[in-house]
Amino acid sequence: MRFLVSGAAGFIGSHFCGRLVADGHEVVGVDNFITGNRGNLEHLEGNPFFRLEEHDVTTPFTGRGPFDGVIHMASIASPRFYFAHPVETLESGSTGTRNMLEVARRDKARFLLTSTSECYGDPEVHPQVETYWGNVNPVGPRSCYDESKRYAEAMTMAYHRVHGARTAIARIFNTYGPRMALDDGRVVPAFVDQALRGRKLTIFGDGSQTRSFCYVRDLVEGLVLLLFSEERYPVNLGNPEEMTILQFAERIRGAVDPTLEFEYLPLPQDDPRRRRPDIGKAKRLLGWEPRVSLDDGIRETIAYFRGLR
Ligand code: UDP
Repeated sequence: MRFLVSGAAGFIGSHFCGRLVADGHEVVGVDNFITGNRGNLEHLEGNPFFRLEEHDVTTPFTGRGPFDGVIHMASIASPRFYFAHPVETLESGSTGTRNMLEVARRDKARFLLTSTSECYGDPEVHPQVETYWGNVNPVGPRSCYDESKRYAEAMTMAYHRVHGARTAIARIFNTYGPRMALDDGRVVPAFVDQALRGRKLTIFGDGSQTRSFCYVRDLVEGLVLLLFSEERYPVNLGNPEEMTILQFAERIRGAVDPTLEFEYLPLPQDDPRRRRPDIGKAKRLLGWEPRVSLDDGIRETIAYFRGLR
């Protein structure tokens, strides 16, 4: 089959393209490289089943099809970068989603939107189920990301309802692994880089806020299963193993150098207090659940960041 993937040069996009090509599919990847990195796709260079095009999803995609599937991953997903580029973040979720949906409509292709657990904002329901509507600050610093994804979900459902588009929505929870950008400010690359440099690990707030970390290989497996399913409504994909940021810092420290110290910095505004996916729907519908342990995932991630040095 033939797929169009936006955000192909991103962290998850590059793994996802690699997986589709490994499964025998043909992929056209597009990226405007605002946060994506060509180096992430080195492993597919010269592969006749993969082509990378520089393209900004906020302009219509007129490239030749037809495609059997369109996957809209293009997004500025790390808080540091979306704080720096709020307008572009809103645009890739709004205009970008519409443009990619148009390709799916043109080609009668399956469409997959990679949405986010941020749709739940700072959740009052725990763990988060897909039927929870969320608790999002519409004007706070994270709103450019959260609301663009909520709009993207609404637009995706509208194309399904109005045009009968075969759409799918994945709500992705914190994901980590090789090819995360070293400077993107997210907790995994931040802690690993600090640990490898022998610096203090920067804990925002008192570190009691929680996250649940999914290894990228597991996430990609879930995305592929969802892509080939018939589901229309959002499906959570993430690892339900929840921990505090302080516990996570201890795991990274333990894996690199147990003598490292912590430095406590102010908690960013609207930083969600807790986050953990309820993956009951993905289990029932797709037979999917994460398999990679945090220890194994951390080991592979640290090896990748060591290799960059
Ligand atoms: N965080 C931290 N130190 C860092 C970077 C992040 O304590 O150097 C915290 C951040 O405040 C949040 C959690 O780690 O509570 C996850 O942050 P990240 O930016 O990775 O993603 P988020 O889940 O907030 O989108």
